[in-house]
Amino acid sequence: MARLVMKFGGSSVADLDHIRNVARHVEREVKAGHEVAVVVSAMAGTTNRLVEWCRQAAALHDAREYDAVVASGEQVTSGLLAIVLEDMGVSARSWQGWQLPIVTDNVHGAARILEVNGAELIKRFKERNREVAVISGFQGIHKETGRITTLGRGGSDTSAVAVAAAIHAERCDIYTDVDGVYTTDPDIEERARRLDKIAYEEMLEMASLGAKVLQVRSVELAMQRRVRIFVRSSFDRPEDIDPHGVPPGTLICDEEEIVENQVVTGIAFSKDEAQISIRRLADKPGVAAALFGPLADAHINVDMIVQNISADGLTDITFTVPIVDCERAKDVLKKVKAKVGFSAIEGAADVVKVSIIGVGMRSHAGVAATAFKALAERGINIRAISTSEIKISILIDAAFTELAVRTLHSVYGLDR
Ligand code: ADP
Ligand code: ASP
Ligand code: MG
Repeated sequence: MARLVMKFGGSSVADLDHIRNVARHVEREVKAGHEVAVVVSAMAGTTNRLVEWCRQAAALHDAREYDAVVASGEQVTSGLLAIVLEDMGVSARSWQGWQLPIVTDNVHGAARILEVNGAELIKRFKERNREVAVISGFQGIHKETGRITTLGRGGSDTSAVAVAAAIHAERCDIYTDVDGVYTTDPDIEERARRLDKIAYEEMLEMASLGAKVLQVRSVELAMQRRVRIFVRSSFDRPEDIDPHGVPPGTLICDEEEIVENQVVTGIAFSKDEAQISIRRLADKPGVAAALFGPLADAHINVDMIVQNISADGLTDITFTVPIVDCERAKDVLKKVKAKVGFSAIEGAADVVKVSIIGVGMRSHAGVAATAFKALAERGINIRAISTSEIKISILIDAAFTELAVRTLHSVYGLDR
C-alpha cells in the first residue's frame, strides 16, 4: 500500500468523457490498495475564459475579485470528478482550497502556499476506508482575510506537490497530455525524445525558461521537500496499464539518481520577454545603476543584459524584461532620460529566448561555441546572450524560433 497524489491538468478533464477516464485511473490506484489524493485543474479553456471575463469587466480590476472568479473553474471539476467516482462505487469527497485548508499568503493572483493540512486527509484515509480526496488545484485561502487566493497560471502542479509533501506521499503523479518531459516541446520538434529521468535543477531551468509542462514553483517546492514527481499521460487507457510494470513517463529526481548524464538535457524557449535598447549612453561609472535601479524600484525584473564597447565615450545597453512589463519599463526609463543622459529608448517584442540546459555543462567546455556556430550557419543573428552554470540563453528574432530550436536540438545529439 502506498500513498499517492494524482494530478490531472485541463486537457485531461476537458469534458465528462475525459473525467470518466480520469476516474478510471483513480479507481485503478484505489483497487491496487493505495490511499489517493487527486488534484484537478479547471476544464481546458475554462481559466482562459474566466480571465478574459475579468478583463472585459474592467481592464483594471481588484486582484481579490479576479481570484474569486478564476478559482471557480477548479471547483466545478473537483465536484464532477467526485460525483463520477461515487457513481462508479469509489468513495470520494471534493475539497476546495478553503475547506482543507490550503493556506497561502495574500498575493492575489500569484499566491504562495504556506501550509496544507495533510493530517486531516491522512485521518480520513484511515477512518473512512481510503475515501478519495478530490482537491481543487490552483486555489487556496489567506487565513487573516479569509479570502480565496490563486497560485498563478499552471498553479495546480504546485497544489499537487504541496499536498504530496503534506501527506508524505510516495509519489506525485502529474498526468497531462504528453507522456513525460521531452528534450524539447514535442509540439515544435517531432524528433524530441522523452526523458526517463531529469534532475530537479534541470527541470527548474527548463520550466523557468519556458517549458510549460510544469509550473516553476512546483519544481522548486518538490526540490525543497524532496517530492518525487512523475510526469505521465492521462490519455492512456487505465486497463492497458500493467499494475506491476513502470509506465512511460519522466521521473524528476535528484541528480545522483541519474546514472548517465548527457552534456545537454534539453532545449526550452520563451516568447514572454521583450528587448529594450538604450542608445548613446555616457560610458561612465554609475550609468547602469541609474538605469536598473529605477526598474528594480518598479519591481521590473531585468534578465539578459548586453553592453557594447564604447568608441566615443558613448555606449548602447540592451536588456530584456517580461513582455507584460515592457511598456511600464519604457515609461520608467523615459522619466530618468534627462538625468541619466541617452539619446533613445527602443523596444522589440518580436523576440524569443532559446535556452540550452544540462547539468553536464558544469564539466564540459565548448557548449556555447557549438550553439553560436550552428545558429550562424543558419543565418540566425544573436541579439543577446546570458549564461549560468547549467544553462545558456540566446535572444533571437521570434521568426526563427522553430529553426533555432530544431537546429540546437540536433546539434547536441538530442534527436530521436
Ligand atoms: P496540463 O493542462 O496538463 O497542465 P500543460 O499544457 O500545462 O498541461 O503542459 C503540457 C504541455 O507542455 C504539453 O502539451 C507540451 O506542449 C508542453 N511542453 C513544453 N515543453 C515541453 C517539454 N519539454 N516536454 C513535454 N511537454 C512540453
Ligand atoms: N486552471 C489553471 C490554469 O489554467 C491552473 C492549472 O491548470 O494548473 O492556469
Ligand atoms: Mg499545466
